[in-house]
Amino acid sequence: MSRPRVRFAPSPTGDLHVGNARTALFNWLYARRHGGRFILRIEDTDAARSHPEHEAGLIDDLRWLGLGWDEGIEAEGEAGPYRQSERLPLYQERARGLVSRGLAYPCFCTTDQLEAERAVQREAGRASLYSGRCRGIPAAEAAGRLAREGGAIRFDVAAAARGETAVSFADRVHGTVRFPLTQIGDFILLRRDGWPSYNFAVVVDDLLMGITHVIRGDDHLSNTPRQALVYRALGAGVLPEFAHLPLIVGPGGAPLSKREGAASIGWFRRQGYPPEGLVNALALLGWAPPGGQELLTREEMIALFDLDGVSRAPAAFDGGKLDALAARHMARLPQARLAGLAMEHLSRAGVVAPEGSPDVWEWVGRLAMLYAERLPRMSELPSLASFLFDFSAQACLADLEVKRTLADQKARRVIEALAARIGSEPLTAPRFQALADEIRRQTGAKGRDLYHPMRVALTGSPSGPELVKLLPVIEEGSRLPLKRRVASCAERVRALLEATSGAVL
Ligand code: GLU
Repeated sequence: MSRPRVRFAPSPTGDLHVGNARTALFNWLYARRHGGRFILRIEDTDAARSHPEHEAGLIDDLRWLGLGWDEGIEAEGEAGPYRQSERLPLYQERARGLVSRGLAYPCFCTTDQLEAERAVQREAGRASLYSGRCRGIPAAEAAGRLAREGGAIRFDVAAAARGETAVSFADRVHGTVRFPLTQIGDFILLRRDGWPSYNFAVVVDDLLMGITHVIRGDDHLSNTPRQALVYRALGAGVLPEFAHLPLIVGPGGAPLSKREGAASIGWFRRQGYPPEGLVNALALLGWAPPGGQELLTREEMIALFDLDGVSRAPAAFDGGKLDALAARHMARLPQARLAGLAMEHLSRAGVVAPEGSPDVWEWVGRLAMLYAERLPRMSELPSLASFLFDFSAQACLADLEVKRTLADQKARRVIEALAARIGSEPLTAPRFQALADEIRRQTGAKGRDLYHPMRVALTGSPSGPELVKLLPVIEEGSRLPLKRRVASCAERVRALLEATSGAVL
């Protein structure tokens, strides 16, 4: 296969959402799999709804997802400019060419006339198609009027179809798609203001940019017959290969809710999902890897991806599956990446200062490592780790399990033995193990009877990460100048014993 050229062509009219991000990803994967080029083109012909800040946001989100492009906006490329608003002369020139070859014609209908025409069609229960009123204006007259009063340019569908009654194209997902021409009216190529319609601009650009595969959402399936005719009118020998990706729905086919993907990529980003996890979940929206393994790295996806694995059936975005995959990816992130994500969320929660010294960054990274495998999104870290900060024995005792443990005779013997031994020097993992051995010998408590009371007393919490890993993190945190203080293990044990000594619990 010659090297494919694919493109992602968002309109900068809003945030990047799951649907568009999936389109970008499938194009990116296809290009990477086949050693092709991935192009980013901005389709900003809807001037009223397009905004530079949306463009900047799309670019930022694509970069965050790790979907870099080889050509296009903010990248080098031979086929630029890559913003449609900077390509108007290209469309105008081609529209004029089509007029001169009898494949398009100037149209002078006013909005009122068109609206009246549509109203009649609606009443008669017919589809609204342009009547063709301006098609019959003799070419010389039309050219004169166009120069004097201006006008739009319409595509002459019948002329472009050369007597055929249907248009067909090959789609990698849908097979051969045939569309009767009776459903296609003469559509606008160029508006009166000189700006192109979507269906015209997209074809001019895909041709000039040498696009070989058009991979996009199947909401565009009904546009493709129009585009196929324009390709032909513009003299394209072959059409690109099309692949229309299935609609994305919520679980059970319901419309997407925010939690289930209707939210923007920025929302997932602010929640602290690792981009690797989100990209993995997006890849499974309509594509099933051969072999069925779902947890995939970027490299694995690139090695496995193909359009033949794309299904026609709507794809359900399942927040639960995203979370499961995201946590697995989180657990694989290097400590420095975890620290970056965790700093963002802990500083937002007011626990650490956002600037943080290298020691604080290191500590935050180790803290995040403790939780990584159960964290789909880093925004959950502050509440999971909240027991570390602003320790208060009274607050801990509000937890019934903590209270019960401190009141239990056997457990209390373990805790008292611990309090007697725990000095002011920090509790490292080996020191903790040595202490645990001594207390086991002294009290005879083993297994859970030994470790559970120690956990409760040393941390103030009945559950959490493995003690040998958690305790050093508590101890180091207690020596750092954090915005919210971390009490040391010794302080915790003593305060809990004191708060419960002699008390009837
Ligand atoms: N600008 C179109 C969109 O955002 C692109 C469609 C296409 O890929 O052809 O839906």
